[in-house]
Amino acid sequence: MKVSKAIEDLVPYRPGKPISETQRELGLRQVIKLASNENPLGVAPRALEALQREVSSLNRYPDPGCYDLIQKLIQKWGGASDSWVIGNGSNELIDLLVRIFCEPGEAILTFKSAFVAYGVCARAARVEVVEAPLREDFTPDLEEMSQILQKNPRIRLVFLPNPNNPTGALADPKALEAFLARHASQSNLLIVLDEAYVDYVREPAYRHGLVLRQRYPELVVVRTFSKAYGLAGLRLGVMNAPAPICRLLHKVRNPFNVNHLAQVAAVAALDDVEFVEKSRTLNAQEIAKIESFFRAHGVSFIPSQANFVLFDTGQDAEEVFQKLLRRGVILRPVTSYGFPRHLRMSVGLPDENAFALQALTEVLGW
Ligand SMILES: *Cc1c(COP(=O)(O)O)cnc(C)c1O
Repeated sequence: MKVSKAIEDLVPYRPGKPISETQRELGLRQVIKLASNENPLGVAPRALEALQREVSSLNRYPDPGCYDLIQKLIQKWGGASDSWVIGNGSNELIDLLVRIFCEPGEAILTFKSAFVAYGVCARAARVEVVEAPLREDFTPDLEEMSQILQKNPRIRLVFLPNPNNPTGALADPKALEAFLARHASQSNLLIVLDEAYVDYVREPAYRHGLVLRQRYPELVVVRTFSKAYGLAGLRLGVMNAPAPICRLLHKVRNPFNVNHLAQVAAVAALDDVEFVEKSRTLNAQEIAKIESFFRAHGVSFIPSQANFVLFDTGQDAEEVFQKLLRRGVILRPVTSYGFPRHLRMSVGLPDENAFALQALTEVLGW
């Protein structure tokens, strides 16, 4: 079978190693996974209640229009019913955006070490990936991105994860505003803000996308329920965008792309303000502890505005990763992002973080 070179050469997304696989392969009983930025507090309790209640109606197809969820989003986050699209994880929304707005041979623009899903979706659609450099502080160089846009008329989409994964870094708020003022209303170009970690941001100057859309209505904002809402296993992402953009996604998406349990859980989770607040508070406390541990041990790390920290192991990260696995700790290697010596540690429960840092201390001789 003949396969296009773009597909042959595609480097697939490498997910965090599952707990069950690690247990099976290494014969371990207790394994701590801090590798996929999941919520260590579990599923939002209100979502769990809704799930238990709704399991018995799974004989029915889900609501293809996600009516209740969209009404709840409008109530909580604003917008209108024609400005929301729900996806099977935000990954599906990213994939749809690329498939809809880029012809093969056209391009997307993102930056070095940005979340890998944009590149995977683009390459799978035979779309070129242009990466702007990072500044020294690991934030995207938006000036340079602007220059690239002026020179390259084939770019249709700009993906800005803010904060980014795996760096945890935020785009400079002033530079972002300047970039949007320049490019948000440019014709034949969409700027997509990926706000997977919006709930964890502590930087007071941060403006999230739904606020920015009031000034730059052409923006596309993507969020997920996989992180602060604790629903990674259900697959639910949402997009807020101009109505004509939303209409196109509705045309192309599968009619039943979002299952019934995901819909009811997300509705309930949006009402679970306490859970999200608790997640945010725990994260802020634990990240402060982890970062001060790294400081005390002279470990260089990137200050994070998300629920994970990227740090320099000072040696081949793959080896450190394997040694940690044998001690029952799963962290995330990020070699494919251009960090062969770094590992990404998601923020877990206090005990899990302490255990992981202890294992690191032993493995690295800190
Ligand atoms: C985790 C993450 C997502 C979420 O993807 P889902 O498909 O919604 O689980 C999106 N963007 C970034 C940058 C992420 O790190």
